Amino acid sequence: MAENVMVASNAMEKIVALCKRRGFIYPGSEIYGGIGGFWDYGPLGVELKNSIKREWWKSMVYQRDDVVGTDAAIIMNPEVWKASGHVEAFTDPLIECKKCHIRFREDSIEKVRQKILEKISKGSRIQNISLSKKETVLAITTTGKCPNCGGNEWTKPKTFNLLMEVFLGVTEPKQKAYLRGEITQGAFVNFKNVVSSSRVKIPFGIAQIGKAFRNEITPGNFTYRSREFEQMELEFFIKPSDKEGNKWFDYWKDQRMQWYLSLGMKKENLRFRKHEDNERAHYAKSAEDIEYNAPFGSPRGEAGWSEFEGIHHRGEWDLSRHKLAYKDEEVGEEFTPWVIETSGGVDRSALFFLIDSYYEDDKRVVLKLHPKLAPIKVAVFPLLANKLPLVKLAKDIYHNLKEQNIGMVAFDDRGNIGKRYYSQDEIGTPFCVTVDFQSLEDKTVTVRDRDSMKQERAKIKDLGLLITQKLL
Ligand code: ATP
Repeated sequence: MAENVMVASNAMEKIVALCKRRGFIYPGSEIYGGIGGFWDYGPLGVELKNSIKREWWKSMVYQRDDVVGTDAAIIMNPEVWKASGHVEAFTDPLIECKKCHIRFREDSIEKVRQKILEKISKGSRIQNISLSKKETVLAITTTGKCPNCGGNEWTKPKTFNLLMEVFLGVTEPKQKAYLRGEITQGAFVNFKNVVSSSRVKIPFGIAQIGKAFRNEITPGNFTYRSREFEQMELEFFIKPSDKEGNKWFDYWKDQRMQWYLSLGMKKENLRFRKHEDNERAHYAKSAEDIEYNAPFGSPRGEAGWSEFEGIHHRGEWDLSRHKLAYKDEEVGEEFTPWVIETSGGVDRSALFFLIDSYYEDDKRVVLKLHPKLAPIKVAVFPLLANKLPLVKLAKDIYHNLKEQNIGMVAFDDRGNIGKRYYSQDEIGTPFCVTVDFQSLEDKTVTVRDRDSMKQERAKIKDLGLLITQKLL
């Protein structure tokens, strides 16, 4: 069977439909008409996200001896955001239609405009230029007309702050605070506490996973650009020297890329992209993104390649802004450490793991997720639903596997066995166990592999160990 390579234009539609139908991701507050930029994870989506976070924590904290974890509060003293530079600099340039007030990011419009002009200069007719839906909208915008109302008057580019404001207390005047725009600052404000309460010594890192919020102007591309999302970040503190900085920057770039590859992401769909000088965040000495070749355009107007993790050399920016230093007790030296950061998005990773693992041929749709990420690890079926001894034995096996701590186990006795396999393939379940008449006689079952579709016979008493080994 030939692999059917998805056409970029409908790839996203298929993924979005699968996510909704099978319970990975739903639009937020859907019964009230939804709310732009917010998404809810269903029973399978939450398992996928939890698996990603668990694997990240394992590799960044448990398997190392130079990283500890923290979990800072989402709302912090607003002074934190002034010191970090976010109140001042966490902005996007926007233009607004004067008639209907719809807003677009000015930087992305400019990039798309340039791309179109370049193609036209090479002889393409505008109708023949293949662009994603968002880019087409932006292209219309660059012709002067608002795609929303047809108006043709625009404001000059203005900058808008992406931090979400909240108001604390019940009596006036209420205290203004912010929902954190990145989880990063939690590691810096706790730097002193971590150094004095644990036995870390430079070089060391603080790892965190948690929610962040941004008033994104144009949320879109499914969960890719949301207003509420989760980040997984490491802030790694080092001695302040270019040699150390370059060494650790390269080290963490490599580690992070290897992590995605080790969980099965296809190498050809991943690349590093170095930030241009005018693009780097206000704090970054140098920065590179890990990008995925997505079936939608990036904000820079370049089809496909889209950031989902940033490796940043933040220098001494953060600790010096928070007026924090480190004392090396052994040599009696005090200095402001430099920071190398790895900042990944849980939601963008989940989306790209889903896209990357999607496979279809003329018979079935399969999510070839790494078994460690698969929401359901194993499904158990009785061959026939109306043969009580088969159902009883299958139920016993199902309950037994559930107790073995391998994660989610499913039981299914609906429809014919082929349909049950395909239903599990579509959600990425790596193994299916079938109880048949032979099982009643010799206490063996078939174990079917999702990718090869091969079946092997295994002893029921060995099942737990067998599945555990396959999940390693
Ligand atoms: P972009 O340029 O796409 O807006 P960014 O450079 O602002 O992203 P960072 O501030 O470096 O992103 O955040 C680190 C990671 O957090 C990103 O690589 C991404 O995975 C995730 N992230 C950032 N903004 C969003 C968002 N609006 N929705 C989902 N994930 C996000």
